[in-house]
Amino acid sequence: MAGTSLTLARRSPIRDGRRVAHGWTPLSWRDRDVRQQPAYPDPDALAAATRELAAYPGLVSLSEMDALHQALGEAQMRRAFLLQGGDCAESFAEFSPETIRAGHTLMDAMASLLARATGVPVIRLARLAGQFAKPRSTDPEVRGDARLPAYRGDIVNGIAFDRAARTPDPERMFRAYGQATATLSHLRSLSRASGKPIYTSHEALLLDYEAALVRIENGRAFSSAAHFLWIGDRTRFPGSAHVEFARGLANPVGIKCGPSLEPEALIAMLEALDPEREPGRVTLIIRMGADLIDHRLPPLIRAVRALGRPVLWSCDPMHGNTIKSASGYKTRALERIMAETRRFFEICTAEGAIPGGMHLEMTGQDVTECTGGLVPVMEENLGDRYHTHCDPRLNAGQALELAALVGGLARQ
Ligand code: PEP
Ligand code: MN
Repeated sequence: MAGTSLTLARRSPIRDGRRVAHGWTPLSWRDRDVRQQPAYPDPDALAAATRELAAYPGLVSLSEMDALHQALGEAQMRRAFLLQGGDCAESFAEFSPETIRAGHTLMDAMASLLARATGVPVIRLARLAGQFAKPRSTDPEVRGDARLPAYRGDIVNGIAFDRAARTPDPERMFRAYGQATATLSHLRSLSRASGKPIYTSHEALLLDYEAALVRIENGRAFSSAAHFLWIGDRTRFPGSAHVEFARGLANPVGIKCGPSLEPEALIAMLEALDPEREPGRVTLIIRMGADLIDHRLPPLIRAVRALGRPVLWSCDPMHGNTIKSASGYKTRALERIMAETRRFFEICTAEGAIPGGMHLEMTGQDVTECTGGLVPVMEENLGDRYHTHCDPRLNAGQALELAALVGGLARQ
């Protein structure tokens, strides 16, 4: 595996050329508490696949990643605003130039609206070109008498409820890599036409895959799979393998902060991930839900501010507001999403933090997955165009409406 034989030095600040973090290797996470990984039936096939991937070209470059890192540092100072968004899970089935173009057009429209409203540059960070692996709350999945491995995203297994589809297959990593590469290439050509850089991000969940895409250049280890990676709410506990993996990467990283996160655990993670207190290094993606944000966000802000730690405060108003509709669809109501967003800005401002970003699940396609909006999706219409492989996304109209709200809130 790339980099395991490096001489490890203590990390030094980025301006001096970062060194690989103390005690870290691309595989040091294996000695920690590893959760949310598939049970591959053939370990030799997995090892062969990751060995092959480790020799492939990286998708992103260090210099692009550094430019994003710097821009995120600006957002911490209210001199830029982060817009991160895209699918909950990319799928092999929904892969097409039209889908990528529609997503890019939507992000561009939202970013223009936000830039006009705030007067600062908007960082476009797509949740795309690698967002293939999903954490699951229940595994196995039981339907009647049948028990099968849960669907963990197209990079792992198939969504169909049959044994062949649900068996984790490491060969799927190559298709995900190929789709991510083509998606990024298409995004780059679209963004060249509009003149603004677009960066990519995904949850660094499937650790064997992620470790295979670590590259080392100039003594700096980084994920070449995306510019920005985040650690999910289910994998950010003390002792977590995912935190250990992210610790050694030069990429800017996000931490999803859900209602069970205590201030002490957050501070311990910040110390592990950002020992040098680098602006732009850590983005805290708050996803409490409209009902809990008043109670759970202020203690986190106070703990971080008491230590003077530089972080970017970003709002994910999607993941704490998921419900099951009467008809059985997993959905979210736009008004609850807006309510949490409003409170995020109000609480940050009251507590002396800068609300500097948004993290959304959205698509340029005209789907009916979340309810509400000016041209409302009603509960009884959810089945019309419900296409997501995982969580419900905002359609373009709903996403633009939310961007208009955020523009007003971020201006103050
Ligand atoms: C997600 O972003 O799709 C996700 C699973 O979020 P969280 O880790 O916040 O639950
Ligand atoms: Mn999701």
